[in-house]
Amino acid sequence: MLEANITNIQHFNVHDGPGIRTVVFYQGCPLRCKWCQNPETISKKERVMQDMRLCIRCGACIEACPNAAISYQDGALYTDTDRCCLCGKCEDECCTKARTLSSRKKTIDEVYREVMKDEIVYRKSGGGITISGGEPLLYLEFNRELFRCLKAEGIGTAVETAGYVPWEYLRDIAEDTDTFLFDFKADDCDKHKFWTGVENGRIKENLIRLTEIHPNVVVRIPLIPTVNDTEEEFTAMMEFVCRLKRINSVHILPFHQFGAGKYDLLGEPYELGSFKEDNDARVQACVEIAKKRGLKVNLGGTGFAEDKKTESKIRERKKDV
Ligand code: SF4
Ligand code: SF4
Repeated sequence: MLEANITNIQHFNVHDGPGIRTVVFYQGCPLRCKWCQNPETISKKERVMQDMRLCIRCGACIEACPNAAISYQDGALYTDTDRCCLCGKCEDECCTKARTLSSRKKTIDEVYREVMKDEIVYRKSGGGITISGGEPLLYLEFNRELFRCLKAEGIGTAVETAGYVPWEYLRDIAEDTDTFLFDFKADDCDKHKFWTGVENGRIKENLIRLTEIHPNVVVRIPLIPTVNDTEEEFTAMMEFVCRLKRINSVHILPFHQFGAGKYDLLGEPYELGSFKEDNDARVQACVEIAKKRGLKVNLGGTGFAEDKKTESKIRERKKDV
C-alpha cells in the first residue's frame, strides 16, 4: 500500500490556488533554500521537533522512549538521533505537544478521507486540494493516485512545486492537475545554487516545457531581499518569464519571517534572521519591473478570484492543448 510522509494537512487555505483549499504538505525536498519557511519538511525522513517553552519537564517522553534516546542535558531535552527510530511514542505521550514528529506516514485513503471533509467548501468556493511541501512530486505515484480519486469526484487539484524533479514527474501528473504553482527563485545560476543548494537549469527547462503542455501554470516568486529583489536579478527573471508560453502574470510573495521559529524547534541555525520583512520600496520596484513588461502582478498569492475572470479563457485554452 502506498504511503507518504505528511507533515501537515492545512484546511481553509486561500493562498495556494483558486477558492478555499486544503493543502497537503509532504516531507522531503531536493532544495535547501536558506529562507525556507517549512524547514521541517526539507529532510526526506521525519524529524523530532522540540519546543522547550511548552515542556513542563514531566519526563513522560523519556519514559516512553523504547530506545533510551532522550535525556536531560543542561536543562533541555537532548535526542540521540543515532538511537531514535522515529517511532513517535514520545509525541504520543507528551501532553503539552512540546515534542512532535515533523511528519507521519499516511495512506492515500487516509489523506483522501481527511481532505474530503471539506468537500462542500471546495464545491461552493471553486477550491480544492493543493499538494505542497517540501517537494510533493517526490511522492509521484501517491499523488497521481490521490489526484485520480479527487478528479473522479470533480474536486480541483493544484501542485505547488520547486520544479527540481525529472521532467517526467511533471508530465505524468499534469493530466490530473488543474493548476501548477511553480516557484522561480533566481535567474542567475550561481546565485540560485548558493541560496538554494541546486543549480536552476533543470528548473527553468521544466518550466519552459510545462508551460508548453499545460494551460494553467502560475509562476510564483518568493521575493528575498538582496537575493532576487535587485533590479538586475529581477529584470532577468521577468525577461525569462516573458518568454514562457501562455504566461501573462506572476505571483510575487514578499519576504516574511513566519517560519523563523521552526529552526529553533529543530535545533538548527537560521541564517536570514536579520533580513527585513517590510521593504515596500523594493517590492514596489519589482512590481513595476514586471508591469513594464506587460505582466499582471498578484502580490501575496491571494486573489485567485481575480484570476477567475480568466478561468473560462483557461478552459478554452485547455481544449486547444
Ligand atoms: S513529555 Fe513533553 S512536556 Fe514532558 S518532558 Fe517530554 S517534552 Fe517535556
Ligand atoms: S521518536 Fe521514538 S525512538 Fe525517537 S525519541 Fe521519540 S520515542 Fe524515542
